[in-house]
Amino acid sequence: MLKYSFTASLKIFLFVIAVGVISGATASFSTAQQWNIHDMKRPLPPVIEPGITSTQEHTGQPPSDAVLLFDGGDLSQWRMSDGGPPEWKIQDSQLVVVADSGSLVSNQEFGDCQLHIEWSTPSPALGEGQGRGNSGVYLMGLYEVQVLDSYQNKTYADGQAAAVYGQFPPLVNASRPPGQWQAYDIIFHRPRFAEDGKLIRPAFITVLHNGVLVQNHVELTGPTAHKRRPPYKVHPDKLPLMLQDHEWPVRYRNIWVRELSES
Ligand code: MG
Repeated sequence: MLKYSFTASLKIFLFVIAVGVISGATASFSTAQQWNIHDMKRPLPPVIEPGITSTQEHTGQPPSDAVLLFDGGDLSQWRMSDGGPPEWKIQDSQLVVVADSGSLVSNQEFGDCQLHIEWSTPSPALGEGQGRGNSGVYLMGLYEVQVLDSYQNKTYADGQAAAVYGQFPPLVNASRPPGQWQAYDIIFHRPRFAEDGKLIRPAFITVLHNGVLVQNHVELTGPTAHKRRPPYKVHPDKLPLMLQDHEWPVRYRNIWVRELSES
């Protein structure tokens, strides 16, 4: 009797372990498998207000769960990259780059995020190639999505508007003429580093330019740079967003960020 119950208990114990291992493996394989299909007990997503899309004439509004970095009002969310107070100016509720003032960085720091930003290069256009309405949107202050007047303006492919600078040309050139408002919608996943500073996973970026997919989850080689591709160097999980002063009075409006969960 004692022998029988011990064997039965052992069998049950092993069965429970096996089920645990299998369900654990399944859960890590896909979170969808953690739930029965159409399970009414599955938590519903938070409800938000989706905001309003901009037109050329009117600035839109961010979704209700976004961090608003610039809505035309003030520069309280920003500082210069050297830490000083913002020296860029606000004109007609638009943020304008002041040449040689330095780059602007957000006070708040971000890691994985969705970023919306609208920009407009000077009209009439002056200069050519990289010297025409140049600025840049730097995720974490390190990874640049190029801002440039690329409307009928030839430059190297990995340096035109919506390029991941020096790494990936956009899939298409979806540029609008200078003076018009253009939009970037960016989904960014920061790189992951181990405790010892070794890279575990590179950064990935997806970009829509004026609503058109131009970077499709591309894997960054490291920080972006001019004429080089530096390797990854360990950095914090969150860093400020940076807008580049490249000496052109590029204008920005409607800048907002949604932080993405790290899971
Ligand atoms: Mg640039």
